[in-house]
Amino acid sequence: MIFAANFKTNHTRQSTKAYLESLAFKLSQKRLEDRVLIFPPATALDRYEGDFTVGAQNAYPTRNGAFTGEIGLEQLEEFGIKTILIGHSERREYLCESQEKVAEKYRFFMEEGFEIIYCIGEPLEVRESGEKAVRDYLLAQFQGVDLSYKNVIVAYEPIWAIGTGRSATVEEIASTHAMLKTHMERLLLYGGSVKPANIKEIAAIEGVDGVLVGSASLDVESFSEMIFA
Ligand code: PEP
Repeated sequence: MIFAANFKTNHTRQSTKAYLESLAFKLSQKRLEDRVLIFPPATALDRYEGDFTVGAQNAYPTRNGAFTGEIGLEQLEEFGIKTILIGHSERREYLCESQEKVAEKYRFFMEEGFEIIYCIGEPLEVRESGEKAVRDYLLAQFQGVDLSYKNVIVAYEPIWAIGTGRSATVEEIASTHAMLKTHMERLLLYGGSVKPANIKEIAAIEGVDGVLVGSASLDVESFSEMIFA
């Protein structure tokens, strides 16, 4: 299983350091087959010791240059960061990232050999329109994205389940993952209100290779409870 934690705009440099020290200690207590990925805010990127991979939540598709407020390859290389989240629904929605822009980022970081966690997910009105609408919407989010790239992990995150406390049902996750797996041969994470109370049930679903966790990853005790569940 893959356990990925997306801190979003939470945690400082100081609290991330404390979190990761605590997590490193917990992970060293148990031999894990599992992989743990942590996406702290950009200001907390650094070289950390531990049995986990630190990735960037976002970066601009450039080595460096005049892109005020953004970070590029040069800033990631400083800390040896080679993993990135691309296509998260909050960036698509609040930061107005079009599919074209998302695909451009994907191409750039693919050419740089990054491990990419590529997020897709449908809004509630699409889910309520039925499975065909969901399939068409999700597959459109693969436009311009080369899924033959070996170093990509896809994360299915229904928007209506993100940060709402309401996870998709086992049936919804199972059928959507099964559908997606007929279109790609990549590891597939589920994200959307995953928490200690539902991790076992979600992890047991066929076609779920791991989870991407927001709110319930912010507390190291809660996140490690899921890893060791
Ligand atoms: C996310 O935004 O990637 C996410 C899964 O958030 P949450 O776990 O809070 O629903």
